[in-house]
Amino acid sequence: MPVLLTSLDPLVAALRADGYRVVGPTVRDGAIVLAELDRADMLPYGWGVRLGPGGYRLRERDDRAAFANSAGPQSWKQFLHPPRQQLWSAERDSDGGFTVAEPADEPPRYAFLGVRPCDLRAISVLDHVLGAGADNRYARRREGIFIVVANCTEPGETCFCVSAGGGPGVGPGHDGAGYDLALTELADDDGVRYVVDAGSEDGWRLLDRLPYEAAEPPTTARARDAVARAADRMGRTLPAADLRALLAGTLEAARWDDVAARCLSCGNCTMVCPTCFCTSVEDTTDLTGDHAERWLRWESCFDLDFSYLHGGPVRSSRRSRYRQWLTHKLGTWHDQFGESGCVGCGRCIVWCPVGIDITEETHALAAEYEASTDDRGGGAQR
Ligand code: SF4
Ligand code: SF4
Repeated sequence: MPVLLTSLDPLVAALRADGYRVVGPTVRDGAIVLAELDRADMLPYGWGVRLGPGGYRLRERDDRAAFANSAGPQSWKQFLHPPRQQLWSAERDSDGGFTVAEPADEPPRYAFLGVRPCDLRAISVLDHVLGAGADNRYARRREGIFIVVANCTEPGETCFCVSAGGGPGVGPGHDGAGYDLALTELADDDGVRYVVDAGSEDGWRLLDRLPYEAAEPPTTARARDAVARAADRMGRTLPAADLRALLAGTLEAARWDDVAARCLSCGNCTMVCPTCFCTSVEDTTDLTGDHAERWLRWESCFDLDFSYLHGGPVRSSRRSRYRQWLTHKLGTWHDQFGESGCVGCGRCIVWCPVGIDITEETHALAAEYEASTDDRGGGAQR
């Protein structure tokens, strides 16, 4: 049964008392970013966002809701798979050899507060790609994270999680696992309060220590209804088609030239994407040559160097790089990992400096594919 919290202060305090570093959304530098929270009043109470292709603006709300906004520029990827990690360092010994040491890897014990359902799916995608449960850096960071989901009641103009196979809610009546608590925020004349579902034993244990009230059926129904209505108010959709087949069938589409003429190959879309995981390895030495380090850092498939093999880059044109990104994200990701690489968060649309929209590009490819198959009397495009 869900319960009702009238404040998130006890939740944040209890998580911190348990030794968690609580990370959640807060307003900073004109955006809702993810940062360590000392107190619940650091959440973005009273702030919403206005989103569009290549555009992001904060806007003041006329209520005190903290989660009536959609995913910000950052995702939880930066905490699970940090942008830069040292792999090892080496010191020259007196006998001319080297001693190699790995950095002490004591990952912080995080509680993620305010994880959107699309981002919960993105964490699950990263788990499959980077190996949660394996003996590796990602798994050590991932293990033991306490996840508090904030269901979406106000999707952004660029959100399309529903047509990406997800939805704005987790908890009873929705898909979604892998969370400890799920909050649905209600903000009205009675103030701000949260209908809370537990998704794990740890979630129940924590909830039992909080001053909750029973969630009356009408209140629970309002919360469920707010999430259901959010599913009907998505700003965008992907084509209702087999996207894996569509991308495989449009490798020579003219649309790739069109998007290449607009794309700057800046890589912003890959940096903000909660599932893009590519990295490069960088070696450095100091001027004496006595000290060397190897670092892992985020890399983008839009970078010309990323596909450099002996003799030159494999993907030397912007057309080929954008095509690689989109085809992997929506198509060949299925072949590698058995699911899509896109959860419909919309970040790549918002943070593309020229406003390239993954949904618009996919619809254009679908239209071109359909036209070409019509011309061929229904045959597949080669
Ligand atoms: S491809 Fe775009 S919409 Fe899809 S998960 Fe990545 S950033 Fe979000
Ligand atoms: S699609 Fe947009 S964000 Fe991505 S590389 Fe091109 S210009 Fe940059």
